[in-house]
Amino acid sequence: MTEPKREKLRRIMNILLTNDDGIHADGLCALHEALACEHNVSVVAPDSERSAVGHAITIADPLRVHPVMRRRGTGAKVLFGWAVSGTPADCVKLGLSEILSDTVDVVVSGINLGANVGINVLYSGTVSAATEAAILGVKSIAFSLNCYREPDYCFAAQAAAKLVEWVCKTDLPAGVAINVNIPAIPPREIKGIRFTRQGTHRYEEKFEKRMDPRGNIYYWQAGAKPFASDDPSIDRIAIEQGYITITPIHYDMTDYNALKLLPASMNLSL
Ligand code: MN
Repeated sequence: MTEPKREKLRRIMNILLTNDDGIHADGLCALHEALACEHNVSVVAPDSERSAVGHAITIADPLRVHPVMRRRGTGAKVLFGWAVSGTPADCVKLGLSEILSDTVDVVVSGINLGANVGINVLYSGTVSAATEAAILGVKSIAFSLNCYREPDYCFAAQAAAKLVEWVCKTDLPAGVAINVNIPAIPPREIKGIRFTRQGTHRYEEKFEKRMDPRGNIYYWQAGAKPFASDDPSIDRIAIEQGYITITPIHYDMTDYNALKLLPASMNLSL
């Protein structure tokens, strides 16, 4: 009996694709193109940019869902995905429970414009979409490109497609989501892939104080100076050194070291 060809063993996956830059963002489109040639990709993404909304969900307003049609080549318009008037976490919840009828193998988020490393992971809608999937028991992976203007998603999308396959065949503990950051440098300069931990250094934040045309003062957050370190086990440092970083993250925010130092209980007659 002849061995089945390796290619034939490749499983077609059902993928829910989302992001926080909005359904029309170039990073999502590039990732869709890279994934849709081999897999069933359903897009459920915010109808406009929701960057830095963290893990917010919408509870005081209704969630509107609109189909987004796209022309493929010269053919007729086909369904590209669903635009949701909510956050990335809303999109994952709604996508998995209401919009998609098939079982989803993996939730993919991105590719975000801008890295999601260090404490920015906490603010990130891109990463929160992956975390939400982990809470709901579905494998997930988030992708961000370390670049803020004139992004080229070509290499990042190809790398991301391979990492989606990697995450699907890798056993990970329950509740783990994968956060991937990709350097925005020429592919030949990328040194490899590093498994990293999330940096915890705080940023020096500044606010620009400005005046609007009616004479009212307003503030605009203006950049954050990255911390100095050369520890390559930290996500931000590894990406600056030219590595793709993979950081496993978890939604359980308990500090187990602190918990060990505290008694099991106490009463208020202190
Ligand atoms: Mn974003």
